[in-house]
Amino acid sequence: MECNRRGFLKSASLAAVVGAATAGNGQDARSPSCNGQDVRSPSGDVDVLVAGGGPAGACAAIAAARNGARVLVVERGNCLGGMATRGLVGPFMTCYDKTGSVQIIRGLFNEIVERLVARGGAIHPKDCRAGTAFTSWIKVGHDHCTPFEPEALKLLLDEMCAEAGVKVLFHADFVKPLMDGTRVAGATLFTKAGFRDVRAKVVIDATGDGDVAFRAGVPTEFGDPQGKRVQPATMFFRIGNCDLKAITADIEANKDNFYRKDGVNYRSLHWRVAEARAAGDWNLKRVSIGLFRGVKEDEWFINTSRIMGVNSTDPESWSAAESAGRAQVDQIFRFFKKYVPGCADARLLCTGSTVGVRESRHIFGEYRLTVDDCLEGRVPADSILLAANSVDIHGRFGPMSNQYVTVKNGNWYGVPYRCLVPKAVDGLLVAGRCLSATSEAAGAVRVMPPVMAMGQAAGTAAALCVKNTVAPRALDAATLVDTLKKQGAYLG
Ligand SMILES: Cc1cc2nc3c(=O)[nH]c(=O)nc-3n(C[C@H](O)[C@H](O)[C@H](O)COP(=O)(O)OP(=O)(O)OC[C@H]3O[C@@H](n4cnc5c(N)ncnc54)[C@H](O)[C@@H]3O)c2cc1C
Repeated sequence: MECNRRGFLKSASLAAVVGAATAGNGQDARSPSCNGQDVRSPSGDVDVLVAGGGPAGACAAIAAARNGARVLVVERGNCLGGMATRGLVGPFMTCYDKTGSVQIIRGLFNEIVERLVARGGAIHPKDCRAGTAFTSWIKVGHDHCTPFEPEALKLLLDEMCAEAGVKVLFHADFVKPLMDGTRVAGATLFTKAGFRDVRAKVVIDATGDGDVAFRAGVPTEFGDPQGKRVQPATMFFRIGNCDLKAITADIEANKDNFYRKDGVNYRSLHWRVAEARAAGDWNLKRVSIGLFRGVKEDEWFINTSRIMGVNSTDPESWSAAESAGRAQVDQIFRFFKKYVPGCADARLLCTGSTVGVRESRHIFGEYRLTVDDCLEGRVPADSILLAANSVDIHGRFGPMSNQYVTVKNGNWYGVPYRCLVPKAVDGLLVAGRCLSATSEAAGAVRVMPPVMAMGQAAGTAAALCVKNTVAPRALDAATLVDTLKKQGAYLG
């Protein structure tokens, strides 16, 4: 902590939003101090508290602050971006319509992309076409993805929050909601200094797992209602010092031999995986490699490990998945060095600081998005975003399989505001992959561009609620849609 007047004011204003600290054992936790001087503020109030600083939470926080709210975002990690940064997940999936001719996810997502491109931290989606190294040579549904540098994104999100006046508290876990009857009125956080209570007029649950909603009593469903299954988890990793030309030549020479059999896709490098399996160097239940070229041409993001049945809301299950993911990465990396042309001298740059979780809880909200809504191209009047992302369900028919279904009718579908408004409680909005959607529909809108648009909508809605003293459920959706359009969202 800086120990000058500027540092003192910075600390004091942070303390003002996180409030007086009380440890879980009833004793006062240590408060921010400068030369021993206590800089706590008696007030722990904010307008909008965002739990979770992933793609959805970061955008929610920035949007709420830009619309005039005093905002605190709390994140258990040490950076914003969630799966995009800590999970090393990328590229941003398509932000275009089904024809690949119109960019339909704009607003804050587009601003982030353009600011990253301007500093060499991303390649614009207009330049990243389907069937290339940027999409692991996948054609369907993968046109106009956006490769980006996780480190550049971390820095940019810090900057955008600071510009908007968002207070960010890292290493802070949402623990439980503070309830006024059925209204969520804030949260108890766990920080290095112990437990802290923050009161808020609106709370946005952007934890991915729907932690706030679940603990506040909102009905939720874990995974797929039939089998209670969730999509598999994946430990992403990033390799460098690879020869782009050699890898590309091998895949280009074999890409006409991509095929699908018994629900399993045989894509990039399936011929090399078969070789490694025959030699006893591969025992994973994967038949090909998901490899996505990064912004730097010698770097690749590898999306191949697969851990089945992970429950990210269960500490033991989540913990075991981290080790299992790293063990799979070790095997896959050794495969790269031995079998993939141009990778003999590859270096393992990093694994994700968290295993990638595709699915856990889905909340029940005022409306539940269905797979038919997506595939039939329905656009309800209160749509807060348009998307054309396909229903993408990994491991649907077993550990090696995938299901991928594109929009059938029209070029996009809408996600209504009601999917962000939970049933049963007030004072709460959700944003991100835990929105109110069936498992299959979430399989489409869980990817980062729509999730960031959801964040922008939830943050804007929360600020409007504060400004007009209305509950999220009572917010006039037409006003929200109008505000989003004025702030760069494309809604047809
Ligand atoms: C393996 C994998 C591959 C994927 N591939 C792609 C892809 O290629 N392209 C694409 O666009 N999308 C992809 N996705 C989907 C996408 O990354 C996620 O669905 C998206 O990041 C969800 O955003 P979110 O903000 O809802 O959640 P998250 O990104 O999970 O962020 C949630 C944040 O909340 C924090 N948090 C959670 N609980 C708490 C708590 N109690 N207190 C404080 N903080 C908390 C977490 O630390 C995290 O930072 C993939 C996902 C996975 C897992």
